[in-house]
Parts: sequence; structure tokens; C-alpha cells
Amino acid sequence: MKNLKKILVVGGGLAGCAAASRMAEGGAEVVIVEREPVIGGRVRGYGCKADAKCNHCGVCLTKGLWKGVLKNPSIETIVSSRVVDLRGTDTSYDAELDTPGGRRYVTGISGALVTTGFENIGAARSAHLQIEGTEGVATGSELEPAMRGRGKNGPFAAAPKSVAFIQCFGSRDKKERSNYCSRVCCAYSTRMARVIRHHYPDCRFTFFYMELQAAANADVFAEMRSLGADFVKCRPSRVTGGRPASVEYDDPAEGRRRRDFDMVVLSEGIHPARDNWRSAEVFGLELDENGFLRARGKRGVHVAGTAKRPMTIAETRHDAILAADAITEEL
Ligand SMILES: Cc1cc2nc3c(=O)[nH]c(=O)nc-3n(C[C@H](O)[C@H](O)[C@H](O)COP(=O)(O)OP(=O)(O)OC[C@H]3O[C@@H](n4cnc5c(N)ncnc54)[C@H](O)[C@@H]3O)c2cc1C
Ligand code: SF4
Ligand code: SF4
Repeated sequence: MKNLKKILVVGGGLAGCAAASRMAEGGAEVVIVEREPVIGGRVRGYGCKADAKCNHCGVCLTKGLWKGVLKNPSIETIVSSRVVDLRGTDTSYDAELDTPGGRRYVTGISGALVTTGFENIGAARSAHLQIEGTEGVATGSELEPAMRGRGKNGPFAAAPKSVAFIQCFGSRDKKERSNYCSRVCCAYSTRMARVIRHHYPDCRFTFFYMELQAAANADVFAEMRSLGADFVKCRPSRVTGGRPASVEYDDPAEGRRRRDFDMVVLSEGIHPARDNWRSAEVFGLELDENGFLRARGKRGVHVAGTAKRPMTIAETRHDAILAADAITEEL
């Protein structure tokens, strides 16, 4: 890269910040446009999942990243804003932004990277599981703040005696419009169970599951079983919140059953953002069969991170760096 080039990064989550830092290191001038008031995306709200030892959740891979981006003189961060239009040729673009102060323009852009991330399915949107009441019921994302804020007495005010995890919640199913494995929920739920077990050693776990993610996690589940977890292979049909919360399901051996738990965790996965169609239009991208974004070969416009497909923190960071290098290479 001979002259200073201006790169637009859309989305200031992990992928956006990792790529921006890399490109700034390579000599580019980077403008990040983030729709929320702060950068960091999902990971910024996640807690460490160590029990007596590190459980390799990847959260500390982001250590110093957000501060580094905000302090970097080669990176401008525009928050609470969206790109509404990108015009130009394949070597120079101008972006029109909707900001709290009104329309703003970023001109002379040589390349753009879309890192708008993913969406949670949310308890209300499951096609399979009927959910009535929220007491004692939380999605994986809703449990993250408790993991993050936990003190020496653990993440909860009272020690739970039994916790159910419902795996593949909103994943691996055509009806949920997500016929793929979300890759992250087997690992984060077993890490959460380890943290809970660490603080409340009498707690027992039940995992309702359809599939377990590939061989890499088989040992994790064997370990959980050795800690007293049991596994039921089925997709539950109903969760009723309360004290206790209950799960109804068809047991392959025993027929229709209902079991009570102090807490039910819906292990939600990674879903394409509902407004991906709009990003596809603005940036000249296309949607894949699941609704994730894909570059259309338009020169200078790339996609990275979970806007593209489900990825872990480590995978997202790696993908963002590869995309940053590809853009730098093109300039
Ligand atoms: C419950 C849960 C727990 C998880 N726990 C782990 C874990 O322990 N370990 C692990 O490795 N992975 C975990 N993951 C996966 C992890 O969340 C992702 O790998 C990571 O967040 C991906 O980062 P990203 O930058 O691609 O997306 P995001 O974190 O979603 O960031 C996208 C950013 O883009 C912004 N944005 C979106 N649309 C626009 C727009 N139109 N204009 C401007 N900005 C926009 C968003 O506000 C956000 O800041 C977990 C996932 C879930 C659902
Ligand atoms: S944040 Fe995750 S990777 Fe870092 S120490 Fe904690 S468990 Fe280990
Ligand atoms: S990671 Fe595990 S829980 Fe998540 S969709 Fe894949 S198999 Fe299901």
C-alpha cells in the first residue's frame, strides 16, 4: 500500500475491531461505523468462564482491543450510526451515513468490510418450543451478564439445585430457518455448567439435545457426565417458567414426560441478522441459503465474522484478520 488508503468498516464488534486494528497497523486510515452507542458487539458483554482453571472460552482474546481501537489515531469510530448508501466505482466509494446529528458523508473510500455480526433467536421466536412464563428461564445470552458480574458467591442470588440446558435452541432445523449447527452453544453451555457447578457443587445438570457438536466437544460432554450431568436425546416441546420451571418432552423410552428444574437455559445459537437483506442491497452483497451475507466479488467490498456464518471468538478474529489482509492486498 503506497498511499494512505481509507477503509470503511461497518460494525464495530469483534470482527470489525480486529480488522480495523490490523488495517491501521498496515498503514490504512479506517472509519468504523457502529449502530450501537459503544463498540465491542456481543463479546463485550460476555464473562470469563473459568472455574478453578481457564476453560478457554476465548473472551480474553479481546483484551485491550476496544480501548486500542478508540485510542488509535488512524481509526475513527462513528457510533449510533448506519450506512444508508455506498456509491462509486470499484476503486473509490462514498458512503452516506445516518447519524444522530443527521446525514454525514465519508468520501474517498478505497475498500469496505461488512462485519455486522449475528442475531439471537430470542425465546419468542422458536418454531418448536412453546415457552410460557420467563421465571427461571433464560437464554444463553441472558445468562452472560450473570457470568460476567459474578462474585465469590457465584452468578445467582440463590444456589440452584438443578439446571436444564436445551441445546440446539433455534438451530439445526429447517422450521427455525437455521438448518445448520451454530458451532458455539455446545461449548458455551458446558462452560457455563462448569462455572455453576464450581460455585454450587450440589447442582445437577440435564442436557436436552438433538446433536452434539462434532468430535472436538465429545470430551467436554464426557466430562460433564462424569460431573453428574445426564443427557436426554430429544427436542422438548414446552417450557413453563416458575419456581420450579418445567420442561415437557417425549422421552424415546418412557413417552411424554415433564420434569422440574430450578433453572432452564435455552442454548441459543447464531442467526443471520434480519436486516441482512438491507446490508446486501447497500453494499452489493448477496445472501446465502440461510440468510448470511456473502461477498459478490465486487472489488473492495468484503464480509467477515459471524455476518458470514457461525464462528467462535477465535475463528471470528482469524477471519477478520484474513479479510483485513485481503483488502490491504487489493489496494
Ligand atoms: C450466547 C452466546 C455465547 C457465546 N459465547 C461464546 C464463547 O464463550 N466463546 C466463543 O468463542 N464464542 C462465543 N459466542 C460466539 C461469539 O458471540 C461470536 O463469535 C462473536 O460475537 C462474533 O463477533 P462479530 O464481530 O462477528 O459479531 P457481533 O459480536 O454481533 O458484532 C457485530 C457488530 O456490528 C454491529 N452492527 C450490526 N448491524 C449493523 C449495521 N447495520 N450498521 C452498523 N453496525 C452494525 C453490532 O451492533 C455489533 O457491534 C457466543 C455466542 C452466543 C450467542
Ligand atoms: S476469559 Fe475465557 S479464555 Fe480467558 S481466562 Fe477466562 S475462561 Fe480462560
Ligand atoms: S453447537 Fe451444539 S447446541 Fe449449538 S447448534 Fe451445534 S450441536 Fe446444537
